[in-house]
Amino acid sequence: MAKLVLDRVSKQYDGKNFVVENFNLEIDRKEFVIFVGPSGCGKSTVLRMIAGLEEITTGGIYIDERPVSGKMAARGDIAMVFQNYALYPHMSVYDNIAYSLKIKGVPKKEIRERVARVAHILELEAVLKKKPSQLSGGQKQRVAMGRAMIRTPKLFLMDEPLSNLDAKLRTQMRKEISKLYRDSSSTFIYVTHDQIEAMTLGTKIVVLNHGQIQQIATPRELYESPANLFVAGFIGSPQMNFWKARVEQDQKRVKLVFDDMGEFVLSEPKAQLLRSRGWLGRQIIVGVRPENLRVMKPEEADHRELEEKWLYAVAKVFEMDGAVSYLHLESVHDKITICMKGQKVYDIDQIVSFTFDETKIHFFDPETEEAIR
Ligand code: ADP
Ligand code: MG
Repeated sequence: MAKLVLDRVSKQYDGKNFVVENFNLEIDRKEFVIFVGPSGCGKSTVLRMIAGLEEITTGGIYIDERPVSGKMAARGDIAMVFQNYALYPHMSVYDNIAYSLKIKGVPKKEIRERVARVAHILELEAVLKKKPSQLSGGQKQRVAMGRAMIRTPKLFLMDEPLSNLDAKLRTQMRKEISKLYRDSSSTFIYVTHDQIEAMTLGTKIVVLNHGQIQQIATPRELYESPANLFVAGFIGSPQMNFWKARVEQDQKRVKLVFDDMGEFVLSEPKAQLLRSRGWLGRQIIVGVRPENLRVMKPEEADHRELEEKWLYAVAKVFEMDGAVSYLHLESVHDKITICMKGQKVYDIDQIVSFTFDETKIHFFDPETEEAIR
């Protein structure tokens, strides 16, 4: 078990550009923390600094109140799964997995049993005698996982450990990592650019972009209240819809006026939110997730109360994906993706009326890109 503190950590490789900037984070014992963000945003750099493998330019990192150093990794307090595997090329798969136990002097019989268990979980039994050069990328990745899993470190650091696996194996391995976490008392820090891995594994997610923390939250908080446009667009698939709208007051009512999709009269408390934050007469960005949109049913066409909440656009693409379907609409200025259950087929190039669940919409400041809450 380890408590980890990152205190105003910054990193420059070339003395000019910060690839990580002012990173503050506290991780309690037995948390599963995910760093998620696009490629190049600094995830691996932060992880390597935590492992003591990369110098920190300014700030400090402490594990159980002691500054980190590479020694901890060598001592076995930390198990790291590297993005590039870092296997011993001259050793067999068996010896790669067994290595840390051997140098600790664990009895041979116990090593055999532990390697067998890990090899079974990772489906590596058939390749135990092979050398890393004889393995596929996915197999190498699992050997790297095996080397970490065979130990019981205070801290697991994993850098995109599933990125080279096919979809089925990845889902299976995700479950194994969940189990490993549940059954151990270790702290996990896990880097991924895959938001599904982030949302399913993490107890706490740190969203990064350009070396800066965008939001730290539970999976549910990230999904339900993204702090800014970046997080809103990054988390959730298909992506949240974003549309520009003007906020107008019409008698007592507050409405969103879209460029060419129509108008939407807001109910309280969303109307009150925009009024009280000073957004009347101004332009905002409205965000709605595809699953919170729906198409008008024929019997709703004459529904007077609903009339002021219908928008419209032209159907362009309809995709069926098993249990759910996606309808993509376009207006002159906006694109709309609607996710729905079932298989109803839509005619392309027809005008479609749609609406959204008002309690689930998000507003963003177009200049700062921060959520309006
Ligand atoms: P991520 O893991 O999120 O893809 P990295 O931490 O690997 O991102 O990289 C962050 C930035 O730092 C990138 O712009 C990358 O090119 C740069 N970088 C990473 N390692 C080095 C290095 N050893 N020397 C110089 N620049 C580096
Ligand atoms: Mg990386």
